[in-house]
Amino acid sequence: MTARPTPPNGVLLWRGATRACAVCGRRGLTRRWVTLRDDCPRCGFHFERKPGHFTGAVGMSTIVTFGLLLLTLIVGMSIQWPDLRSGPLLAVMIPIAVVVPLIFHPTAKTLWVAIDLTMKPLEPGEAVGGPEEGSA
Ligand SMILES: [Zn+2]
Repeated sequence: MTARPTPPNGVLLWRGATRACAVCGRRGLTRRWVTLRDDCPRCGFHFERKPGHFTGAVGMSTIVTFGLLLLTLIVGMSIQWPDLRSGPLLAVMIPIAVVVPLIFHPTAKTLWVAIDLTMKPLEPGEAVGGPEEGSA
């Protein structure tokens, strides 16, 4: 069995960042927004390539969330300077800390799959053939 060709890195990353299957471009991979399907309905690619595969996605989600919290802290302190009050900052930062990981979680997973594919191309039998969807 021959391996399906792995798309170019730019295509992989675009598809991952837009919550599409990195291999074939299929969209609609989540259930109730946060749950990524186990396999792509079109190409059959199994997203969790090995146990613990999505640890990288958790790391990316953490980096994005903490980055937004840091940005919020810097902007909030700059606006309030020199009379710093923690209440308004917490009123903004706590919802960010709760909501951003939930919203970003599925994107982090599809993006992590794409990043993984840039480093470790498809192997024979990982995805079935078929026409790829457009350019996205
Ligand atoms: Zn697919």
